[in-house]
Amino acid sequence: MGEKKCPHCGEWSKWTTDINDKCEHCGQALGGRDLAYKEQRDRDTKANEEQWIFYIKESDSDFVKGMKKIGNFFYTVYMAIITFLAWVIAALPG
Ligand SMILES: [Zn+2]
Repeated sequence: MGEKKCPHCGEWSKWTTDINDKCEHCGQALGGRDLAYKEQRDRDTKANEEQWIFYIKESDSDFVKGMKKIGNFFYTVYMAIITFLAWVIAALPG
C-alpha cells in the first residue's frame, strides 16, 4: 500500500501497486506510461497470436478449425520433445 503521483492531474493518490488503479482525484488510471506500455504489449501479444498459423478464428470452417487443432496438438508435442531433449542434454554428466 502506497501512494503514487497521478500522471494526469499531478495529485498524490493511494494505490495498491496495481497499475489498473484509478486516481482518487480525477478518476483516470494511475498506471500512466506503465499502463500504456502494458496495453501495448497486450495488443502485440494478441496480434502475434492472431498471426500464428494455427490460430483458430471464428470465421474458419469446421474443417479448418479441426486441422488447426491437430496442428496445435502436433506443435505442442514437438515442443515437448524439444524441451525434453534439451533437459536430457543439460542433465547429462560432463
Ligand atoms: Zn488524477
